Amino acid sequence: MHTPRIYVDADLAPNTTVVIEGGKHHHLRNVLRLKAADAVILFNGQGGEYGAEVQAITKQATQITTLTYDPINRESPLHICLLQGILKRDAMINALQRATELGVSKIIPIQTQHLSEKRVQLAGRWEAWQAVIEQSSEQCGRTQLPELAPLTRYTEAVSMVQNADFDLRLLAHLGAPESRTPPATTPKRIAVAIGPEGGFSDAEVTLAEANSFRAYTLGARILRAETAPAALLAHLQTRFGEFSETKQ
Ligand code: SAH
Repeated sequence: MHTPRIYVDADLAPNTTVVIEGGKHHHLRNVLRLKAADAVILFNGQGGEYGAEVQAITKQATQITTLTYDPINRESPLHICLLQGILKRDAMINALQRATELGVSKIIPIQTQHLSEKRVQLAGRWEAWQAVIEQSSEQCGRTQLPELAPLTRYTEAVSMVQNADFDLRLLAHLGAPESRTPPATTPKRIAVAIGPEGGFSDAEVTLAEANSFRAYTLGARILRAETAPAALLAHLQTRFGEFSETKQ
């Protein structure tokens, strides 16, 4: 059987016992049906992972002890910060899962002019998104967790990115010029902004362009809001990152 990978927010070293409670414990007990002596893998997002064993599993908690440390790194050499327009519930989950699998380093959920969710429905969404990122990281083997920034207003996110150290800033936008002029040097740190279901407003595109973003198109068809991050991240990994044929 595939060894379950479990993310824990705790300091780890070989021979550390962690106690897992709450929803995660219920998942381990009732869904994965783990038992004492079962092998699992623990990771805390600080690099590498730990071979571990279930010590005990009771109604309230799962106790796991780490045995060995494996310094394996499954992170992308390319740092990609995704500014993701907030999507409807399931589409947002989908976008976060795809972005995590494709090696994104940081996700900033952005509140754009065209907001698909009612503002009141945004309460509690951050925690749900963080849980999605953790589960997705467990499943795909990530050794670091993508960082999930707080909900940020679009204008604020754009100026944060403008002031931060990026080699390339892109705004995914239908109908932008088809230019693929290669940058002089391979970018190592890229910021990409993707709009919500309703797309970016003209004012948002103008603002991004005034702040060192380049409008960037991915073909002539309209991609669904949850397809766009997957397509764009795979494209960037091929052009500049771990899918590239020239080794980074
Ligand atoms: N109705 C919207 C489409 C939104 S799709 C519009 O007309 O703009 C959601 C987001 O996905 C867009 O804001 C854009 O960031 C991205 N996207 C979708 N298809 C794209 C394409 N072909 N090229 C670049 N970005 C695209």
